[in-house]
Amino acid sequence: MTLVCYRCGREAAAGARCECGEPLWLTADAADFSWSDSHERGVWRYADLLPVEPPPGVGSVAGGTPLLRTPRLDEYADCTLWVKDEGRNPTGSFKDRGSAVGVARALEAGDDWVGTVSHGNMAMSVAATAAGARTNCLVLVPDDIPSERLAHIAQYDPEIVRVEGDYGRLYDESLELRGVRFVNSDTPYRVAGQKTTALEIYEAFADANDSRSSPFGGSVGGDAPSTPDAIVAPVSSGGHASAIWKALRELREAGALAALPRLYFVQAAACDPIARAYRSNADEVTPVDGDETVAYSIANADPPSGNRALAAARETNGGVLSVSDEEILDAKRHFARRAGLSVEPASATTLAGIRRLSERDKITSDDHVVAVATGTGFREQTATAATPQETRMAELSKLVRSLVSGSSG
Ligand SMILES: *Cc1c(COP(=O)(O)O)cnc(C)c1O
Ligand SMILES: [Zn+2]
Repeated sequence: MTLVCYRCGREAAAGARCECGEPLWLTADAADFSWSDSHERGVWRYADLLPVEPPPGVGSVAGGTPLLRTPRLDEYADCTLWVKDEGRNPTGSFKDRGSAVGVARALEAGDDWVGTVSHGNMAMSVAATAAGARTNCLVLVPDDIPSERLAHIAQYDPEIVRVEGDYGRLYDESLELRGVRFVNSDTPYRVAGQKTTALEIYEAFADANDSRSSPFGGSVGGDAPSTPDAIVAPVSSGGHASAIWKALRELREAGALAALPRLYFVQAAACDPIARAYRSNADEVTPVDGDETVAYSIANADPPSGNRALAAARETNGGVLSVSDEEILDAKRHFARRAGLSVEPASATTLAGIRRLSERDKITSDDHVVAVATGTGFREQTATAATPQETRMAELSKLVRSLVSGSSG
């Protein structure tokens, strides 16, 4: 496989950046692709569209997440809503898909070390995937990383290095380091693995219109269309957005899908460089200063694949928008209370974004929309404070009787 630039078409044999400055992705030979009859579930079901063989350990079971129909959220979203539950990955986010392929690549190339620049989900994901594959792992974290976050990463026993200095610059610095294969947010092998989020969504919808039963279908079926009208995902570095776009392009090239969905990407208003560029019709994303947001996993102020995410949104007639922390927390509560899903604030931006798009008629009540819930809420400290009722054992049956009768009807 070779690398190619999405923007100028230039090819390269190695590296992560084109001469024009934009990120490279891997070419794929999807010419004779067809939906697999394999019973394999997860990332490796799509081995035909991936450049490497599975690694041992959790990387071999990444992906294969359910697509749920969530009817009790339809009114809030004002459309027919599905949720792709990426929290069900081994370390709780879609990052495991990219780590699986990135670590597998390191194994095939005979590298002893993989690395990443992250203080969150990606660090956990790369460290866990490396642990299962018996590869050494280097995680570069910022100076001011909170200790709970550090503990989550440290459980997988990577070599963690706190780096003093401008954390934003560390991404580029890391790619120059010798002896460690970095699997950062938008590097070509990570993007290749993260394509499988979209492949699974597509297969679930395709299967609803086919007699085969889908491993991802959940309750997709009945009157579902053969493709969703729109896919909505949070965006930070732009790596996942690029991957979703690439998967759709490959499927179109292979003649495996009739219509491309509109791709919408959502940011937190406190740090929204890509949404700003979209709103102002700019060709390029300009770095922002960026404030704190509850959606800490998507606070990249200088996104390395920002321009590529912008291109994905524009070419599919979608868009990029931002939502406030208040809207994010309201959507997070709705995910839990009306769908039973605990999601990260970063993932709740999808539902908040869909609500806004519906208000502006960009999404209509006839649309079938997939929200990509990118990460689990189980690590969160921001859950609503509980206010349980209290009683003595002897009074319990009386209390329950009043509760149950109060809720009937
Ligand atoms: C990394 C991450 C994102 C953003 O993905 P990018 O590829 O950086 O754009 C969104 N949600 C969660 C939960 C993440 O961990
Ligand atoms: Zn280029």
